[in-house]
Amino acid sequence: PETWGGVPLAPPDAIYKLTYAYNDDPYPEKVNLGVGAYRDDNAKPWILPVVRKATEITVNDPAVDHEYLPITGLAQFTSAAARLILSPESPAIVENRVSSVQTISGTGANFLGALFLSRFYQWPEGQKKVAYVSDPTWVNHHQILKGVGIEPLTYPYYDPATIGLAFDKYLDTLKSAPPRSVLLLHACAHNPTGVDPTREQWLQIADVVQERAHYVFFDSAYQGFASGDLDADAWAVREFVKRGIPLLICQSFAKNAGLYGERVGALHIVSPTPEAAVRIKSQLSVLTRSVISSPPAHGARLMALIMNDPVLFGEWKRDIKTMAERIITMRKELHRLLTDELKTPGNWDHIANQIGMFSFTGITEEQSRLLTEKAHVYLTTNGRISMAGLNSHNIRYFAECLDKVVR
Ligand code: PLP
Repeated sequence: PETWGGVPLAPPDAIYKLTYAYNDDPYPEKVNLGVGAYRDDNAKPWILPVVRKATEITVNDPAVDHEYLPITGLAQFTSAAARLILSPESPAIVENRVSSVQTISGTGANFLGALFLSRFYQWPEGQKKVAYVSDPTWVNHHQILKGVGIEPLTYPYYDPATIGLAFDKYLDTLKSAPPRSVLLLHACAHNPTGVDPTREQWLQIADVVQERAHYVFFDSAYQGFASGDLDADAWAVREFVKRGIPLLICQSFAKNAGLYGERVGALHIVSPTPEAAVRIKSQLSVLTRSVISSPPAHGARLMALIMNDPVLFGEWKRDIKTMAERIITMRKELHRLLTDELKTPGNWDHIANQIGMFSFTGITEEQSRLLTEKAHVYLTTNGRISMAGLNSHNIRYFAECLDKVVR
């Protein structure tokens, strides 16, 4: 028999497939709303001015070489990254209870976090390893968990009837899940829906999590990108830490620093004692060694420089605001076009109310397909659009096409 005869052909990744189809389309007015990456008002990738500056400093620094980083990464980066998400005053930081390691962006943090839990979490005796993820969630969560032997179960999250949060059902599922269940929560700017709990709802979620002694696996891929404010977007994580809820945080600098391809991220595990944090970090080091040996240096150097220098840090915050505000402006403008100008049937308030890079429009699979086939507007068939793909030149075209398919 042929050696690889048993290897089935895997389907292509949906998002990448969409990008290739967009690239091959010669239509001049084509619009790409599939990709989860920031674009400027001319639909071009944007290098943050602060990143350009940090790059210049780094490449001209005679002390910078291409040696390996330590296994757990650049310490000036991981410590600043922990302060960024937890705040410098966080009890977990002040009490030395955080084990931070550098990862291959947010994906690597999710993988390492899941691998660590799979190996070391005290799973209920005789029961399968399971983790609860939102329905829907970033599709990679399913693959990552399964890959390390954790079965993903779902909790209700998105309610198509309201194009909002299915809050009661969500909370009921957290209440009925066995004690000490692992819950994967998006820290802010939920992907793919753009629907986040309100602060009031977060407090109720935290109450249930505490009552049931659940473990929280926070995925933070959009800090600063959601509201334009790094601290506001870290609010839920900090509230959970303040309450002493056992948790870990997966952190990505892909979106908020525009460092997608540089793969800059970190995993932070918060423990009850400094002594546990040392043991945990030693095991994270062993796991990292077997998967990547040591993480990439360049992006971590840039972020260490930016986060540890007050002037550069201030410039970064301004650049983050530039991105978040452009996206918020697009939300308002799309809402205005649909509601006031085109009088498109239906309620479009969710477009303005949702947060972050993505918006669930609420249109059907068939309508999504029609947009791509007839109007050259590329989006995933769940009706999700990347707000970053809209700009002052194409937003009217998109609104008119959307109006046509829903009529
Ligand atoms: N988690 C979520 C929810 C995401 O949306 C993404 C990116 O799309 C990631 C994690 C990880 O991205 P990266 O590996 O590029 O940091």
